[in-house]
Amino acid sequence: MADTLKPTTVPQVVGRFAPSPTGPLHFGSLVSAVGSYCLARQGGGRWLLRMEDLDTPRVVPGAADKILNTLEILGLTWDGPVAWQSRRVELYRSALDELRGKGLVFACGCSRQDLQVSAPHAGEEGLIYPGTCRRGLPPGRQPRAERIRVPELAVGFCDGVFGAVDQCLADAVGDFVLRRADGIFAYQLAAVVDDAATGVNQVVRGADLLGSTPRQIFLHSCLGHPLPHYIHLPLALAQDGEKISKRHGAPEIDGTLEGGRIIRQTLDFLGQRVPLELQGAPAGELLHWGVTHFDLERVPQLSRVAAC
Ligand code: GLU
Repeated sequence: MADTLKPTTVPQVVGRFAPSPTGPLHFGSLVSAVGSYCLARQGGGRWLLRMEDLDTPRVVPGAADKILNTLEILGLTWDGPVAWQSRRVELYRSALDELRGKGLVFACGCSRQDLQVSAPHAGEEGLIYPGTCRRGLPPGRQPRAERIRVPELAVGFCDGVFGAVDQCLADAVGDFVLRRADGIFAYQLAAVVDDAATGVNQVVRGADLLGSTPRQIFLHSCLGHPLPHYIHLPLALAQDGEKISKRHGAPEIDGTLEGGRIIRQTLDFLGQRVPLELQGAPAGELLHWGVTHFDLERVPQLSRVAAC
């Protein structure tokens, strides 16, 4: 009997954009929004929106609504309801319980100052935890944060823009924080729990998070989640060579005023060749072009000064 050809089912892409409401949308975050949007929509995939508003001391009142409003004006429309991290803490708590149940979590009594004194090196990701409380709290120390024990193993993945990346967690970051001393669940844990819970299988974001990805892959594997595909985009820099950021005083994007121009600049920044006839086209038309023509091969690795 002839072999029957089984149709191969390609899973639908589920992408997401996950801004932190620490200020309005700026060019740097728009690069992630447009890149993740085009790559998710390209194959008819879903594009979700998550508001990373857990770090309450840094949240700026009104910023989340402004971000959502700008995205809507630009035509970057998302699927389903916005996932507000501040309303999802029970999920993070139960993931932490699960990791604790596996014996992977320990209480840490070190203050930032202790770490500055005792951490042997500062890696690219900040201070490398020296392991002070990993075998139990030293006498007289009170539990502050909770950390996960990391193995002496390299975590590797293939990034859609940067190619093969690997990092030995123990050397690069050490046992990292899952719950901070102020009780707030750490970004690494919340992002992993949410990406898995919402079925995200394609993570597109700025290259400043490339170094966080091995930690996230490690957490996904500890929690038994399937791994998403990671794509990190070049960072938009300000004139002084620093990453454009809200803290850096990046100009706010006014979707009504800048519409098409800013989307075009974003696509140009991502190495896409927007045709000249689309000069002056509205945002929606440029996004449509981006969804149809976005070519990952053209995205440069190099972070550079944005022309906006
Ligand atoms: N909230 C992060 C930011 O605004 C992005 C996190 C992510 O995409 O995983 O930089």
